[in-house]
Amino acid sequence: MLKEVKAIIIETIFPKTCLSCGKIGDFFCQQCQAKIRKIELPLCPFCRRISAQGHSCLKCRQKKALNGATVYGYYQSQPLKLAIKALKYGNIFGLSEYLAKILIEKIEKDNLQFDIITSVPISKKRLRERGYNQTELLGRVIAEYFKKPFFMGLIKAKDTLPQVGLKRTERLYNLKNSFVVTAGDIKDKKVLLIDDVLTTGATLNEVAKVLKKAGARQVWGAVLARE
Ligand SMILES: [Zn+2]
Ligand SMILES: [Zn+2]
Repeated sequence: MLKEVKAIIIETIFPKTCLSCGKIGDFFCQQCQAKIRKIELPLCPFCRRISAQGHSCLKCRQKKALNGATVYGYYQSQPLKLAIKALKYGNIFGLSEYLAKILIEKIEKDNLQFDIITSVPISKKRLRERGYNQTELLGRVIAEYFKKPFFMGLIKAKDTLPQVGLKRTERLYNLKNSFVVTAGDIKDKKVLLIDDVLTTGATLNEVAKVLKKAGARQVWGAVLARE
């Protein structure tokens, strides 16, 4: 009740406006939301071949730890990019719930099954600078919705360079040994791993590798956008 009252007060003082065109109402007005290019076909997260349920395709599966991924839309379709950037740098109240809802719909549509949820962690240094981890905000809302535990035992131990702008080999080297499972039991669990943007799949795969080493049976990604 109190939470609802608080939400109403905040809503009155700071009404939500469309991130794209500024119209009052929601984070996206209907027209701008319609501009998001959604990913309707299930694709291999690595090579982007059509693959049932977004499974890593037969060829990629041999080399990758990530079992597959579901992705909501294309990052370059402007409204989605704006929203993801706003969540990352703007700390906008309620936006994490809004974006989590979008991803929840996609997870349900693709009928992904899982036992536990986690998100791609950021380093302590980055967390101090930003104050929060945007993928964890999403992951916690999603975990609460599906009534599944949120796995806290995954950390980013090494501060890496942003993956954007690095060459393929540099990306892999950059990520090597950067994620660590410190505690908690994920033995035989099917893990759903939340992230905001998928580029080559290197980050999700690196985290999947670490989770599987710690005993996870399967690791699936659920991501807002693909580059
Ligand atoms: Zn709009
Ligand atoms: Zn593939």
